[in-house]
Amino acid sequence: MNVLVIGSGGREHALAWKLRQSQSVQRVFCCPGSAGIAREAVCRSGDIKNVRQLADLAGELGADLTVVGPEVPLAAGLADELTARGLHVAGPSQAAAQLESSKIFAKEFLRRYRIPTADFVACEDYAAALPALGRWGGPVVLKADGLAAGKGVVVASEPLQARAVLDAMLSGRLVGAAGERLVLEEKLEGEEVSFQVMTDGNAVLPLAPTQDHKAVWDDDLGPNTGGMGAYSDDGILSERLTRRILDEIVAPTLDGLRAEGIVYRGVLYCGLMITADGPKVLEYNVRFGDPETQALLYRFRGDLAETLLAVASGTLGAAQASMKSDWEPGASVCIVACSEGYPGEYATGKPITGLDAAESNGAKVFHAGTAERDGQFVTAGGRVLGVTARGATLDAAVQAAYDAASRIHFAGMHYRHDIARKGLRRAHAL
Ligand code: AMP
Repeated sequence: MNVLVIGSGGREHALAWKLRQSQSVQRVFCCPGSAGIAREAVCRSGDIKNVRQLADLAGELGADLTVVGPEVPLAAGLADELTARGLHVAGPSQAAAQLESSKIFAKEFLRRYRIPTADFVACEDYAAALPALGRWGGPVVLKADGLAAGKGVVVASEPLQARAVLDAMLSGRLVGAAGERLVLEEKLEGEEVSFQVMTDGNAVLPLAPTQDHKAVWDDDLGPNTGGMGAYSDDGILSERLTRRILDEIVAPTLDGLRAEGIVYRGVLYCGLMITADGPKVLEYNVRFGDPETQALLYRFRGDLAETLLAVASGTLGAAQASMKSDWEPGASVCIVACSEGYPGEYATGKPITGLDAAESNGAKVFHAGTAERDGQFVTAGGRVLGVTARGATLDAAVQAAYDAASRIHFAGMHYRHDIARKGLRRAHAL
């Protein structure tokens, strides 16, 4: 089959790389792709917000399957457009994408189906918001309703800070129109886990649990980014907790969607807080996480193209019987190398060296923001590379990933030195 991947980041590089390994795949295309992705796929230019143009491209390329990386084209209705043209797509409809594109929609959905989540109030003016600030008698979490590229959530520990953030959101100063409506919610305590499943709306294929690292500096300090690293190992969740998440969160979510006439075909990402009362939903994403996917796919032993085609065509249940979709034992780690200044302003065009040396011991470097100049890779984004390695233990995977990262150089390169530390503490406490 021919597969078209939509997107241009490290997640899409990992998807293209893994899809290419499937026996049944002839060609992998990527729109718009990147210099790094061009090593795995034929890149075609295009605007990821223009769903008609993307669907035309899928038709022109004879794509038997389109895999959508980012949320923006899903929220714009790409899956609906492809489905209307009789084309297979791994990614949910525009209606389902509201689980990510509107925090108010997601929270009301969670409440409607009694899925565990933090108590909340939705509001669009001061009159409704001000009384809610004191509702939980402590810190409050303010969330812009709309898509805000990871900048729309603030945990305010002080009332004065909460009022300032409220003001900045409602006035449109913080994240523009995305913040003109918002959710105020209770702050939850516990450990965060990302739990993703592939689903055709009925059958569910759980992916290994992961943890990501949003803050730019070690020890979770500094501003939030798109993600500075992730790791996957089986110690993150016990079997009992995994079962609870599937029963108390994933199943009622898919049941609720079906009750509303939505058959969800794609990846459902549940951002969870494991609280003393059990797992609770912090957020839904309607697509693969980035950089979780880089770590996950480096451990995935299954045939990604066959699996995603089954997701897209509603045959996952039948396919699962014959599918070998297990995981390399042990762990995997992805360290994101970013440009100095990110997530603020940063320079680009810095020559990158050491990429081959980094991969010489079995690591894989996924490109998140690179370009090619005179035959050499140069930096072209805030997040530049995702250095990914696996190992028989989490210690071994962490060591291999940092060893690989240490061989790479570009001016101003920065990465966190504590990726997977929580997992290492857990492993050593056993
Ligand atoms: P979200 O986009 O809703 O996942 O929020 C981004 C981040 O903010 C999460 O990954 C958490 O670290 C934090 N966060 C969101 N909601 C809460 C909450 N109710 N309690 C504590 N932390 C939260």
